Amino acid sequence: MPTDPLSFLAEELDDLKKKNLFRKLKVLETEQKATSTIDGRQVVNLSSNNYLGLTTHPRLREAAIEATRKYGVGSAAVRTIIGTMSIHEELETKLARFKGTEAALVFQSGFTTNVAVCQSLMSAEQDLLVSDELNHASIIDGARLAKSPRKIYPHKDMAALKRILEEGKGARRTLIVTDGVFSMDGDIAPLPDIVDLAEKFGAIVMVDDAHASGVLGENGRGSVSHWKLEGRVPIQIGTLSKAIASIGGYVAGTRLLREYLVHKARPFLFSSSHPPSVSATCIAAIDVLLTEPELLRRMWDNARYFKEGLARLGFNTGASETPITPVIAGETSKAMRLSDRLFEEGVFAQGIGFPTVAEGRARVRTIVTAAHTRAELDFALDKFAKVGRELELLR
Ligand SMILES: *Cc1c(COP(=O)(O)O)cnc(C)c1O
Repeated sequence: MPTDPLSFLAEELDDLKKKNLFRKLKVLETEQKATSTIDGRQVVNLSSNNYLGLTTHPRLREAAIEATRKYGVGSAAVRTIIGTMSIHEELETKLARFKGTEAALVFQSGFTTNVAVCQSLMSAEQDLLVSDELNHASIIDGARLAKSPRKIYPHKDMAALKRILEEGKGARRTLIVTDGVFSMDGDIAPLPDIVDLAEKFGAIVMVDDAHASGVLGENGRGSVSHWKLEGRVPIQIGTLSKAIASIGGYVAGTRLLREYLVHKARPFLFSSSHPPSVSATCIAAIDVLLTEPELLRRMWDNARYFKEGLARLGFNTGASETPITPVIAGETSKAMRLSDRLFEEGVFAQGIGFPTVAEGRARVRTIVTAAHTRAELDFALDKFAKVGRELELLR
């Protein structure tokens, strides 16, 4: 019998199972809400990026339905052929105004946006891409697809960034890339220091606001607004898949940056555009950010309440400054056990282990939203206390 050329699949998956890294996908059986049914169990959901609870907001739901009626279900083309619909440009105009930039360009996802920008701007050996070690996987992949060398600095280490910029002075162009809010620890990038260094060395700054859009700054405008760096960060990336509750990513910057990417960015050129319902949902989401600031306030109140609750119980919550709060458990197996036991008790908080986070820093990651009630948060804190004692994370 010929050997199966795909036999490595089972072997490598077995290897993951041995290392306790094999995961069965959890299935959400209801809407994405504060309390959801997951795998047949009703749980308080602390693992979505639904920061403002917009996944079920009536205005967004109606906008999606209305756009589907008006424009149909899909564009059936890439943007550069006939896949640019008026509603796509309407969203881009809206995003640019929201971010205070000349222009914006939407991509299929936040992931493709990062890949597109890194790859198209860093187009030669003489360029230099500089990246924080904890930046998102899509930035890492964008850097891999870029033609330039890349240099990684230790997390938020400004002295190391400065050294890299000094050594890289001869580069044709230099791009410093950072997450605005880091997705695993919930800490905030020192953007003012990065911008000062960039200005000194003539480098371009790109901030990925996937977890900062709809979270930080005035009306959720992101890191630049949070730090009052208007006009000093040439490339702002946002996602439409987290707080905005739909799907997609965007670049906000100058008109020239937009034109450049329209001509050079491969995901823009070779992958089709969003269904009109997606653009309509996002337009409605921006309107909600502008007209219902109480959602943002409620999210921050909830985040503070929950974070303080975890700290009071005695958990190690790392360096978090945002609604993302890790509960650090140590070994990967311990974090997974914590997550599994919480789930049995009615709380869903995803376990995250090596290699996504460093060995010994495995955790469950919690994200509190505007949609959680105090009763739901108290319930979750009770369960954390119970399971934390059981697993000897607490005394
Ligand atoms: C989630 C995330 C992305 C990817 O965004 P999608 O729209 O889900 O593709 C990019 N960067 C960071 C920092 C993220 O957390």
